[in-house]
Amino acid sequence: MTINEIIKKAIERLKREGRQLTPDHYAEAFCEEAKRAGIIIEDCKHVDRYLHTLDADVQNEIRQYRIRTTQELVRFLISKLNRMKPSQCAQLLNAHMALNKRILQAVEVLHNKEAAELAVKTARMAESAATSEQLEHLRQAWINFLTLYDDTFLQRLAPLGRIDTADLKKSVEGFVVPKGGGGAVPELGGVAALMVASLVPSIAPSVNDAIALLSDTIRNDPQMLTAQSVQEEIKQAIALRIALDKESLKDMILALDTVLDKLSLQLIDLIERSDVSSVEIQGIKKELEAFDMEQQSDFKRAHSKLYTIAVNLEERTEVLRSDLREHSDRVHALSARVSELEAELASAQEASHEDYLTKLNNRRALENYLKVKEGEFARYGRNFSVVIFDIDRFKAVNDRFGHGAGDAVLAAFAGVLRELCRDVDVIGRYGGEEFMALLSDTDLNGAVTFANKLREQVAKKKFIYKGEHIPVTVSGGAAERRMYPSVKQLIHAADQSLYAAKNNGRNRVEPS
Ligand code: GH3
Ligand code: MG
Ligand code: MG
Repeated sequence: MTINEIIKKAIERLKREGRQLTPDHYAEAFCEEAKRAGIIIEDCKHVDRYLHTLDADVQNEIRQYRIRTTQELVRFLISKLNRMKPSQCAQLLNAHMALNKRILQAVEVLHNKEAAELAVKTARMAESAATSEQLEHLRQAWINFLTLYDDTFLQRLAPLGRIDTADLKKSVEGFVVPKGGGGAVPELGGVAALMVASLVPSIAPSVNDAIALLSDTIRNDPQMLTAQSVQEEIKQAIALRIALDKESLKDMILALDTVLDKLSLQLIDLIERSDVSSVEIQGIKKELEAFDMEQQSDFKRAHSKLYTIAVNLEERTEVLRSDLREHSDRVHALSARVSELEAELASAQEASHEDYLTKLNNRRALENYLKVKEGEFARYGRNFSVVIFDIDRFKAVNDRFGHGAGDAVLAAFAGVLRELCRDVDVIGRYGGEEFMALLSDTDLNGAVTFANKLREQVAKKKFIYKGEHIPVTVSGGAAERRMYPSVKQLIHAADQSLYAAKNNGRNRVEPS
């Protein structure tokens, strides 16, 4: 379709619609016909072009009014401009400003230093016609405040009671003691802890369920202490606690009572069996027996029972003490006598030449004989040998079979020794389980032969004590006089040989 044909159709359209052929009507009809024909005419798109440059709200408004031509657009804009009076805008702005100012003043008094400072700054800036850049800067500061605001400090108030984060003033008023006058905030957390501790029975071993439940309630929410119902519960819990303690106390007194009864009986028994039966003690016994338990209360009964027993013990101890004093005097006298007798015995033994247990020569006698033998050796060159015997593991004999058995073994050993030696030989007990033989005109060989004979005989012999067989062996050390410059060295040599015999396995004889 050509432009001419569109023009023709536009004019026909106006005629048909009965509209006048004004430039505006014509332009409108022309554009409509061009659109219908699918032809794009640049002049018909003016409205769209201007539309894009406008604010979105205005664009919507224009679409609602179905504005199609530039003329319509101009008319719309004129009427809009007419409606927007500058004075109206200024009024609105002022109202906003005033409102903002009040809000900022409110923020200023809200007890937050940071917010208050920011509010003062913002208010000052608004009054001094700040630039949009400065306002943007402030907006950012407010955003920072909002994002960094930390109200965890409120949690620290939690122990004081419930915190109403939306109305802190109300929370704080809740902490104040209504009648106190001083306006102090009670530390209910601390009071709650004390209350819980005081509810626990002090004597009864366990806490009752009801007490435990109430304790938990108070511990978890100390504010509950102010509730009337909880106070009632506390009263009941205290009564319960006392009852529990009383019950336990009763059990304990009963147990104590049983012990005291036994103690009393034993004391009476002791007094009865005692050989000291003075009138006084008999009196105490009667008192104890006559004690009327049924007439007294638990505590009093236990107390007076203990008291009576204490008095009895005190008096009884006094009797015993005087007894002891008397006895100890007697013991002193006796021990002095024993010492005297011991001294007498020692001097008697010293004078004697016989060993009391074995009836052989004792050490003193042996030493005298040694002197005689030494005299003969010096004057006539008469040789002799010495054998020292020592019973093996004799301590074990005593330990296993007792000292009586040990003594019996010593006596029996002495018997064997006596049997084996010649008349001219001198034998004796040299020490505890040590014996000595002085063999005249005998050399080392002869001495060893004699010693071994005795050793074998002892090992063979059956030592029986109270039906028990005691194994006994003996070791010996021999030395010949001729081989040593002095008696002292002779005895020392025999001793060393005995020592060697022990070291070499015992039940043997070693020559020097
Ligand atoms: P070893 O073989 O080394 O000689 O051992 P042991 O146990 O014989 O030697 P020790 O010297 O250790 O012990 C000797 C024991 O002999 C200790 C002592 O009580 C006991 N004894 C000494 N004299 C007597 C006594 O007259 N009667 C009794 N029953 N025992 C005595
Ligand atoms: Mg010994
Ligand atoms: Mg011994």
